[in-house]
Amino acid sequence: MDKALADLIRISNVTGKDSTLVQGGGGNTSVKTADGEYMYIKASGTALKDMSPRKGWRRMRLDAVLSVIEDKTLAKLNPHEREPEVVDRLLLACDDNVLGGARPSVESHLHAALERCVIHLHPLAVAAYVNAKNGRMQIEKIFRAEKFPPLWVPYTDPGFMLAKRIARLVESYQKQYGRKPAIMLLEKHGLFVTAGTADAALKLVRKVIKLCKSKLDEPKARKGKRIADSDIAATKSAIRKAVLDATGQSLPVTYFAPNKAVAAFMARKDSVKLLATPALNPDELVYANGPAMWLNKCDAETVAKKLKFLLDRGQKPSAAFIVKGLGLFVAADKKTTPVIGEIATGSLQIRMHAAKFGGILALNKRQQDFINNWEAEAFRKKLVSTKK
Ligand SMILES: [Zn+2]
Repeated sequence: MDKALADLIRISNVTGKDSTLVQGGGGNTSVKTADGEYMYIKASGTALKDMSPRKGWRRMRLDAVLSVIEDKTLAKLNPHEREPEVVDRLLLACDDNVLGGARPSVESHLHAALERCVIHLHPLAVAAYVNAKNGRMQIEKIFRAEKFPPLWVPYTDPGFMLAKRIARLVESYQKQYGRKPAIMLLEKHGLFVTAGTADAALKLVRKVIKLCKSKLDEPKARKGKRIADSDIAATKSAIRKAVLDATGQSLPVTYFAPNKAVAAFMARKDSVKLLATPALNPDELVYANGPAMWLNKCDAETVAKKLKFLLDRGQKPSAAFIVKGLGLFVAADKKTTPVIGEIATGSLQIRMHAAKFGGILALNKRQQDFINNWEAEAFRKKLVSTKK
C-alpha cells in the first residue's frame, strides 16, 4: 500500500473515533504522495472512523485539483451553476480503481493548497471560539507564545469560494512568515491542521484541543430529578403529533436522557436566549434544521404553532427539542437521528461557552440561504440518511 494511503487511514481512524472532534460526522483528511502527483482524500459520505485501505477514500491528481481553484471562469459563475460544476470537476480529477463512484470530499480543493498531511475536524472545543463574538481575540491570547500563529479564516460560503479564500490567505501568510500556516481556525466552521508528516499533524490536533480546552469550563455533574417514563412517552407523542400537524410528515421521535451538558443547559436562566440564535454552522442547519426548540412544557398544540411559525417565515422546522426538566427529543428518520442528537447536544455546549466569550456568533440570513441551496450539502445529507 502507498505510504500516503496508510498515513491517511491512520490519521482518519485516530481522529474519527473521538466524537468530540468530529461533531455530526464532520471533518475530512488528506495526504499527498511523496512525488507530489497525487492526493489521497476522504470520500464524501464516509465517516473518518470507517475509512480503511479498501474504502472511504479517493485518489486525485493534484494538478487537476489545483486547476479548479485557479480557474477564473468558475469564479464568475453564480453558485447554482458553479458548485455542481466544481463537484463534477473534482470527480473527474479522481484517478484510482475505486468502484462505486464515491465523490471525493467537497472540501478537496481546499486541501490541495496545504501541506502534505491535512486533518480537518469540527471539534467542540474549537467551536466554542469560532462561534463566539470574541473568539478570535481569545485564540490570539491562547496562542500568544507561538512563533507561527494560527490563521483565522473569516466566515466564507463553503465550496469554491472558501477554497479560493483559503488559498489566498495561505499565500499571504506564507509571505509574512516564510511558511504555510500549520493551524487554521475557520469561523462558524472548524479546524484545519496541516503538517509534513502524519505524526506531526496528529500532534498538532492534540495541542490545539488542549490549548482551547484550557479556557473552557467542563459542565459539572448534577443530580436531576428522576424522570418518569410516562412523561417521556407523553412528550414523544405530543412532538410526533405536532410535527405531523405542522409539516404533514410522520416521523419517529427519539428521547436522549440528559448528559452533563444538557442538564447544565436546562438549569440555566438564559436557555431560551441561548437557543434563540440561528444555526451555529452549516452542519446544524443541514442536519438539525437549526438550533433545538426550547420548550418549558410540551403540548402538541403549542409545538405545532411554533413549528408553523418557523415555516411561515421560510425557515426549516426544528428537528430537535429541549424540554425543560426532561432533556432532548429528536423528530427525524431513524438513520439521521443519532447525528442530530450529537449536533444538538454539542450545540448546547458551544452556546454556553460562546456566551462567555462575548456572545454567540451564528450564521446570518444570507449565509443560511446559501447553505440551504447548496447542492453538495444536499448530496451529503442524502448519503448520511441512506448509509447503513
Ligand atoms: Zn468542515
